[in-house]
Amino acid sequence: MSGNAELAIKFLVVGGGIAGLACAIALRRVGHHVVVLEQYSDIDISKMLHGGIRLPPNASKVLFHWGLERALRQVSVTSSAINVEIYETGEFIGTHRWEEEVLRETGGDFLFLHAFLYDTAIAAGAEVRAGTTVVSVSGDGPRVTVVQEAIVGKDVLDAAPCQSLFYNTTVPGALMRADPQLASFFKQPVETMFIWLGNNRSAVAFRMGAKDEFALHMWVRPMQKGLSDDDCWGGGLDLKEMQRQLGECEPRLLKMAKLAATPACVQVKMILPIEDWVDEHGRMVIIGEAAHPLPAGSLQGGAMAVEDAAVLAKLFSHLRNQDQILTVLHAFQDLREDRCASVMHTEQCNLHFQMMPAGPQQERCNQEMRARTAQGGSVFGVSEASEQWEQLKELWGYDADDEADDWWAKWGLLRERAKQRLLDMEAEMNTARLRSLRVRA
Ligand SMILES: Cc1cc2nc3c(=O)[nH]c(=O)nc-3n(C[C@H](O)[C@H](O)[C@H](O)COP(=O)(O)OP(=O)(O)OC[C@H]3O[C@@H](n4cnc5c(N)ncnc54)[C@H](O)[C@@H]3O)c2cc1C
Repeated sequence: MSGNAELAIKFLVVGGGIAGLACAIALRRVGHHVVVLEQYSDIDISKMLHGGIRLPPNASKVLFHWGLERALRQVSVTSSAINVEIYETGEFIGTHRWEEEVLRETGGDFLFLHAFLYDTAIAAGAEVRAGTTVVSVSGDGPRVTVVQEAIVGKDVLDAAPCQSLFYNTTVPGALMRADPQLASFFKQPVETMFIWLGNNRSAVAFRMGAKDEFALHMWVRPMQKGLSDDDCWGGGLDLKEMQRQLGECEPRLLKMAKLAATPACVQVKMILPIEDWVDEHGRMVIIGEAAHPLPAGSLQGGAMAVEDAAVLAKLFSHLRNQDQILTVLHAFQDLREDRCASVMHTEQCNLHFQMMPAGPQQERCNQEMRARTAQGGSVFGVSEASEQWEQLKELWGYDADDEADDWWAKWGLLRERAKQRLLDMEAEMNTARLRSLRVRA
């Protein structure tokens, strides 16, 4: 448990998604009071959340640090290798192996992760009010909430055009094993992920830790128009529509799509960075998707939310008086916006790589990967001497707690001392003024 803040305050968190719940856990750990307001009831949430989620090491590291390693490992699978194949033909291009435990992704069930964060937040003493929709917020009072429109002035997601569709579904293991072609997936080690690279299309599949199921993620450029704005993570979509959107794809993918559960579908949008995360009164801040929306299905989506929570709580662990709140909220944005912008850029590049349009560039990439495999190397060419390795180390090696501690040591304490010096000077001047008044009297 981290040290408690000298001044404990009450946080109202709007939204019990990954960001909200992680925030509740992290803030409780440093002694603040937290009430989470979530629009969906517990029952709705459990009906809506399904599909798999991947957690990169920068997120699992934070959760482990919060003492959740054992529980997380029980509901997830640690990825040690990725098999790369061509979407349209199923041609095997090569394998990428993670060399160190620290650089491995964790794949699990979204509902499990959500339920697990929910239970942890409650156990840590947060209050979660499910079925409570927040309709408006005001920063002009002692309320701290997390609402994008009140700060940014518009719904940024609505305004952005749809680039592609992301489908998230699961396929029962028993049905897959009954089909000889799909049964081959089970001959691979359980830690293997599969990725298909295609012409404007891509797919990822991985085993889900706690269930005998495969998670299936797919990105497609919509055949006709995109979905209407009421597309949703909550599923209820037509499986046939998903199969139609798959286009030309290898037979195993098509079979998996036919056996899949009702999918969730979300529009993939590229959002420009949001300038202000803190409201003018310095009482509200946005975090997670609301502050830095990543393309749907991004590996780092949940991770950025968890990192945000860790940084915010670490900064608020130094709270001694109310006057610091504005500084701390701005420090949070300062600390997080470059990191999130760089992750957003990486995720956009990854998505472009995964679904590169057919043409000379795509062919060149595929040839390079085939050549690396032929030479016995890793398909992505990430060796310890490579530039990508450095990028990965930076991306996955990020330590949210260290970043916040560094900021506090470098700037927070400096500001505190400068403020204290000002107060001391003011006090000295007042004493001098009083003395001179007395002398005159
Ligand atoms: C229903 C749902 C299912 C998802 N399923 C998956 C999945 O299977 N796999 C995956 O990789 N990612 C999924 N995501 C996305 C993933 O949660 C986010 O990309 C990422 O984890 C960041 O989370 P977040 O908490 O910042 O945002 P979100 O996950 O969007 O959470 C925001 C929360 O705020 C609540 N909320 C919004 N407005 C109000 C309001 N006015 N009053 C009260 N509450 C409000 C929402 O109900 C939601 O629970 C899902 C998101 C949602 C909302």
